[in-house]
Amino acid sequence: MNITPNETHNPNLKSWVESANDPNSEFPIQNLPLCVFAATHGEGTEQHTHAHQGVAIGDQILDVGMLGESGYLEREGSSELLDALEQGYWFGFAESPRLMGELRTILQRFLSEEGGGQGIRRLRDKALRPQSETHLLPPLPIINYTDFYASVHHATTVGAMFRPEQPLLPNYKHVPIGYHGRASSIILSGSKITRPSGQQSPAEGQSEPTFGPCKMLDYELEVGAYIARGNQLGEPVPIGLAHEHLFGLCLVNDWSARDVQKWEYQPLGPFLAKNFATSISPYIVTMDALAPFRRAAMERPAGDPKPLAYLFDDEDQKNGGFEITLEVYLLTSQMAEKKMAPHRLSRGSFRDMYWTFGQMLTHHTSNGCNLLSGDLIASGTVSGKEADSRGCLLELTWDGMGEGGKPKPRKPIQLPSGETRTFLADGDTVIFKGFCEREGYRKIGFGECWGRIFAAGGA
Ligand code: MN
Repeated sequence: MNITPNETHNPNLKSWVESANDPNSEFPIQNLPLCVFAATHGEGTEQHTHAHQGVAIGDQILDVGMLGESGYLEREGSSELLDALEQGYWFGFAESPRLMGELRTILQRFLSEEGGGQGIRRLRDKALRPQSETHLLPPLPIINYTDFYASVHHATTVGAMFRPEQPLLPNYKHVPIGYHGRASSIILSGSKITRPSGQQSPAEGQSEPTFGPCKMLDYELEVGAYIARGNQLGEPVPIGLAHEHLFGLCLVNDWSARDVQKWEYQPLGPFLAKNFATSISPYIVTMDALAPFRRAAMERPAGDPKPLAYLFDDEDQKNGGFEITLEVYLLTSQMAEKKMAPHRLSRGSFRDMYWTFGQMLTHHTSNGCNLLSGDLIASGTVSGKEADSRGCLLELTWDGMGEGGKPKPRKPIQLPSGETRTFLADGDTVIFKGFCEREGYRKIGFGECWGRIFAAGGA
């Protein structure tokens, strides 16, 4: 497990890309998260566009593909780096932590104030492009997507809504719960979110269900993990090796149609309430960059069962968690017109998750299921104990049970514009932010994951 900080995490390192040295920048030289973007070459009829690998630095993207084409990488490192780039996207590096580490060192040297060897000045200008003018693509083409349910606080609060007498089902503390999501509707941050239509339960006093635009549209704040190396069908990944199969993390918004979900989820789980859109932040924050921010797995309260042997590993317990602060902001169209700042709805931490990504991955493969390089597994809604650390509106607006065991009406959120929200309205923009902080290290960020709601089709 890559948990030992090294010279690439030195907080005193500075870049000649000035914006990266701003203490508020999410992308200092210690981060270097991976992306893919559309690069245009040539002029006139010769012009063509293709995908290049890049890393974020300050408010710029460093064109790693160009550094490969220019011969720089070959001069500074091994020829395997070029082979890895030629595999497309970040596949070559997902397969080899050694090459990923080598590339990180070379890129950091190129970007550092001390310079990166001969001829670097000539390359500097050509290698950068402003993030704001760059068309980002998914960093890896995700083929399979699985969503877990790893926050015990989320599971308990949501369970209480439907089963006040038994909020947490008896399997929860033994087995990491998940479902197979859909990869085709995973979209990059900033993509339009069309309000889904769906079937909803009969209204009070009615006997027939209805079909129409979702009335309870929600977000779910989650962290996603990209699979590095896959495993062969029939060959489970033991928990002691699980972390070698994790490539890096991103932010995920598992948009959810609660009214559709409530009606359809029994007995087989989520279906159309979830697969109309899942937004991801465009960067992969690598395991290398995250090394200083590892922490112990959540400590289970006394009396909770110890995980079964196949899910228990000392090293995973000691370092399998991540210290990530996560925030959700809401900007309504009225607030945007009035030039108001987005309003923070919640702030929580990834440290409160009941299962580690290592345990989720090992459990996923424990029956022999094969994960592929570039697959995405998401954590499930990240909610903490405190009311203001709840990662979805379903929980934030929940007011508990009232008289006679009936749920109390939801408590709408008051916004600084005077508006209120119980669930999302058309025109609303939801913004996720994530960052890692630790004394003695440079703070690093994930880049935003945002989406704006548009009216249901035909409206
Ligand atoms: Mn979810």
